[in-house]
Amino acid sequence: MYELHTLETYLKQFFGYDSFRPGQRQIIEEALQGQDLLIVMPTGGGKSLCYQLPALLKPGLMVVVSPLIALMQDQVDALLDNGIGATFLNSSLELSEMRSRSQAILNGKIKLLYVAPERLLNPGFLDFLDNIQARIGITGFAIDEAHCVSEWGHDFRPEYRQLQRLRQRYPQTPVLALTATATKRVQKDIIQQLHLKTPSCHIASFNRPNLYYEVQRKQRQNYNQLLKAIRQQNGNSGIVYCLSRRKVEETATRLHRDGIAALPYHAGMTSRQRTDNQNRFIRDDVQVIVATIAFGMGIDKPDVRFVFHYDLPRNLEGYYQESGRAGRDGENANCILFYSPGDIYRVEYFINQKTNPDEQRIAQENLRQIIDYAEGTVCRRTIQLSYFGERFPGNCGNCDNCLNPQPIEDWTIEAQKFLSCVARCREKFGITHIIDVLRGSRKKKVEQYGHHLLSTYGIGKDKSKDQWKLLARSLLHQGLMSKTTDGYGVLKLNKKSWEILRKQRSVSIAVPHQKAVKSQDTSSLSVEAEMLFDRLRSLRKRLADANNVPPYVIFHDSSLRVMARDRPQSLADFGDISGVGQRKLEQYGKEFLSEIRAFCYEHQPPVSLPSDTQMATLQLCQQGLSIEEMAERRQMKPSTIVSHLSELIERGQPVEINFFISGIRQKQIVVVIEQVGDQSLTAIREVLGEDYSYDEIKLVRGWWRNQKRRI
Ligand code: ADP
Ligand code: ZN
Repeated sequence: MYELHTLETYLKQFFGYDSFRPGQRQIIEEALQGQDLLIVMPTGGGKSLCYQLPALLKPGLMVVVSPLIALMQDQVDALLDNGIGATFLNSSLELSEMRSRSQAILNGKIKLLYVAPERLLNPGFLDFLDNIQARIGITGFAIDEAHCVSEWGHDFRPEYRQLQRLRQRYPQTPVLALTATATKRVQKDIIQQLHLKTPSCHIASFNRPNLYYEVQRKQRQNYNQLLKAIRQQNGNSGIVYCLSRRKVEETATRLHRDGIAALPYHAGMTSRQRTDNQNRFIRDDVQVIVATIAFGMGIDKPDVRFVFHYDLPRNLEGYYQESGRAGRDGENANCILFYSPGDIYRVEYFINQKTNPDEQRIAQENLRQIIDYAEGTVCRRTIQLSYFGERFPGNCGNCDNCLNPQPIEDWTIEAQKFLSCVARCREKFGITHIIDVLRGSRKKKVEQYGHHLLSTYGIGKDKSKDQWKLLARSLLHQGLMSKTTDGYGVLKLNKKSWEILRKQRSVSIAVPHQKAVKSQDTSSLSVEAEMLFDRLRSLRKRLADANNVPPYVIFHDSSLRVMARDRPQSLADFGDISGVGQRKLEQYGKEFLSEIRAFCYEHQPPVSLPSDTQMATLQLCQQGLSIEEMAERRQMKPSTIVSHLSELIERGQPVEINFFISGIRQKQIVVVIEQVGDQSLTAIREVLGEDYSYDEIKLVRGWWRNQKRRI
């Protein structure tokens, strides 16, 4: 069987990672034992690895069912780049290509095959599967996006229902169902529909600790607010979601004009334009994609560093999924919702247009949850996760409310003033009018109704319009006052309102202060490391374009960050970095190392001049004396003379190294330095063996360092 410690070895070898994410190890062990599995993990949790690694360790072929052609391509690209035999079959392929891929499968060259469900079930393909089963065996069926099988999920696909036929045809072959949709109902449905046999269920927490959540109150110039927030993201990739196509176009154009490389994406564009824009985003040609919710399902980009909602999302689950497209790679990412109470009225207007009362009720409930989230003063995660039935204790330390709690103030007197004004206006007006009366406005409407004669007229001049609005919204939000949903928003008093008026209840509200946007901190790299990171990012982009793959397929940001921080000098050090597997080391190691070295060279402290004693040695050397003779003359140990010489060589002084060591030996030493780095003489000697002296190594190292400086 597979020893536990060796699983980690395989993880490093194939994928370059050092440790498993939560849940992965156990799932993989069970998959290796042929257990049926239901795996529910949030986006970015690392589901793919749960079937990929078992596929590599078991004989036979793993068949992966995946609904989206674009995703198949990405997954296969990433696997191939790790040197893993993977392919897909779908309608986009030419017949000859289909044939050669099928042949490769039957020859056992492929470990993972990606197919769409409709293809899987056509008769010709089932015969092909029988053939595979007979010749090399089928390791298992991995059903990705398994929630598509359920009508209760958000993405039902009838063809998924047919997948149970696989179970009938291959009753002994394990089935792994994977999804990021959390509800209990969908989970149950998946188990039933796919006929999973006493599956082992792994339901991960839906908390995504690396995502920072914030809600920003929209200011009057809210475009500038958005622009500023984007500029604070250091050129990292991000998505801006808007509700309408028009707003998508408008925002993308404005951003573009303001120097942000942004492209639009919405269902009104041709499918070609959409694919084009999506690809340019995935390949880091543009920084930002401005999109309606049509964008996202088919993309797997792990290094999306921010998701901003410029409009109110439809519901909390939608918000969770959309914002969850940030930070799949586990690195920090920012999710900001820009929110204005005005947006609520707009949504309410649409809800009121609906004719079906059930739909209306659901839409209202959805809206209420979103408002709860946006106006909430407790930990944003607590609110989100409670939606999935998960109890989160709060104090996450990575949301605006936890980092920057809003002060709670007692506004009982103000609430009494406000509610009594509502009462005196006979519960027939909305927020704006009540505030006008309180603030003693001279608007016609106020006089028209005789409201300038009320005792509450002008008693609220001490507070601004915005402060009164804040109070009104908070009263509504806390259920201390009601409002009609007919589109007019007429304020009504309820039982609790009367308790306040009778002084039986006090009112506290959270008073927001202007928050600074959290800028994308690239986990505290020094300025220099930041510069190197940018250079490595450009190198990655060049290589990606040359190989026609998205940049993240080559290395993730997290790996680049470690390179920039640690500046590995040898292939061995480079290979230790998380994300650098065997194949990547061979394929990209040299180029990245030389970029790092070039950077180190440019940023090293200026070379100092040789010291007086070194100069004295140099003079003797130029007279053609041997090391022993120089030592003799200067009354020093030969090793000291060697140190002088190697320093002189490193500083580019005219010392003829060929005089001391033969060319062949020099070459040998250089090869080893390139392998193990120049830091430790002992390490270099260990590889070279006893036949080489430390003195020789020192001199050649001086020469090598001098060369590196000159690159
Ligand atoms: P999901 O399908 O659950 O959304 P993926 O399988 O695409 O997530 O994994 C998300 C990202 O995390 C991928 O880029 C993957 O390479 C990376 N990843 C997966 N497992 C690990 C791990 N053990 N260590 C580091 N990175 C991992
Ligand atoms: Zn929090």
